[in-house]
Amino acid sequence: MTFLRHVRTARDAALLLPLTAACPYGGVSNRGPVMDIKTVGIVGAGQMGNGIAHVMSLAGYDVMLNDVSGDALNAGMSVIDRNLERQVSREKITSDEKAMAMARISPVQSLPDLGQCDLVIEAATERETVKQAIFEDLVPHLKPNTILTSNTSSISITRLASRTDRPEKFMGFHFMNPVPVMKLVELIRGIATDGETFDACKAVVDKLGKTAATAEDFPAFIVNRILMPMINEAVYTLYEGVGSVSSIDSSLKLGANHPMGPLELADFIGLDTCLAIMNVLHDGLADTKYRPCPLLTKYVEAGWLGRKTQRGFYDYRGDVPVPTR
Ligand code: NAD
Repeated sequence: MTFLRHVRTARDAALLLPLTAACPYGGVSNRGPVMDIKTVGIVGAGQMGNGIAHVMSLAGYDVMLNDVSGDALNAGMSVIDRNLERQVSREKITSDEKAMAMARISPVQSLPDLGQCDLVIEAATERETVKQAIFEDLVPHLKPNTILTSNTSSISITRLASRTDRPEKFMGFHFMNPVPVMKLVELIRGIATDGETFDACKAVVDKLGKTAATAEDFPAFIVNRILMPMINEAVYTLYEGVGSVSSIDSSLKLGANHPMGPLELADFIGLDTCLAIMNVLHDGLADTKYRPCPLLTKYVEAGWLGRKTQRGFYDYRGDVPVPTR
């Protein structure tokens, strides 16, 4: 599998397509059949990880939620409790359903605790080295036929898979934010992902009552390939003084009928995640049109990451968000 580590650009992958066309799912797995998925492990209890735990437990899966930070794990469990309570108050679920969902989630402090899971979804920070280290630490503890997935917004699934012992049982499982609300899940096959693995993940999406869209393994897949350059352009528009934070967001809300302005949305996603995705697009497609705006870089360097740090293009410390420029 070593050559797969060199698949870095869309052009490299295109050159490999003829090699894979005869065997689209990378051949037959010798790891035994994919089992019935009952227990789901989630690595990372941030806004995506806790959202994924929330919807998985409501759908009846047993969930093991892990984070490298004990504080983040506790915060993630509190957010799930709060969000389920909101669903009870809106009469979307009963208080018994909430109690059962909470009881199905076990917070766990170490990766080996995920060893008995049937499916693992990695939802840690959008940095390739972080994700690679997680997979390398996790893999020795997994059952041979456990399906391993990443919620990455942009990083090559093929490259992540090549760092594991099971590229054929590895794929992209990309939820949207906020997970309990958003209907779409992008499913991304790596070059070696087998058909059984894809079908098992698709069945999970169906059980969650969400809709799957299949994307090929190119930088940022579909949603972020289109969305993130728009957000980056909004930051350039601010940087060049074409408009203020309010005028840019109002323009897109009222002029293009977007439910949120692009800067408001960037704060919601996390400016560190936006910058990481732009860097993956810029490096992976080698095109200057994906150059991250220097102002976005500066905000991230300042630790102004958006809602999660109470400050980004808006300041969230008061009762209402206040534009910062
Ligand atoms: P976040 O910053 O809210 O949470 C990331 C969590 O990962 C943190 O709690 C951190 O402590 C934890 N973490 C870091 N290193 C870890 C490790 N080694 N082991 C276990 N946990 C670790 O980020 P997020 O917005 O939840 O994003 C997580 C992933 O989901 C990223 O890959 C991101 O691209 C993707 N994603 C984000 C969005 C979004 O809108 N924010 C949408 C779809 C997908």
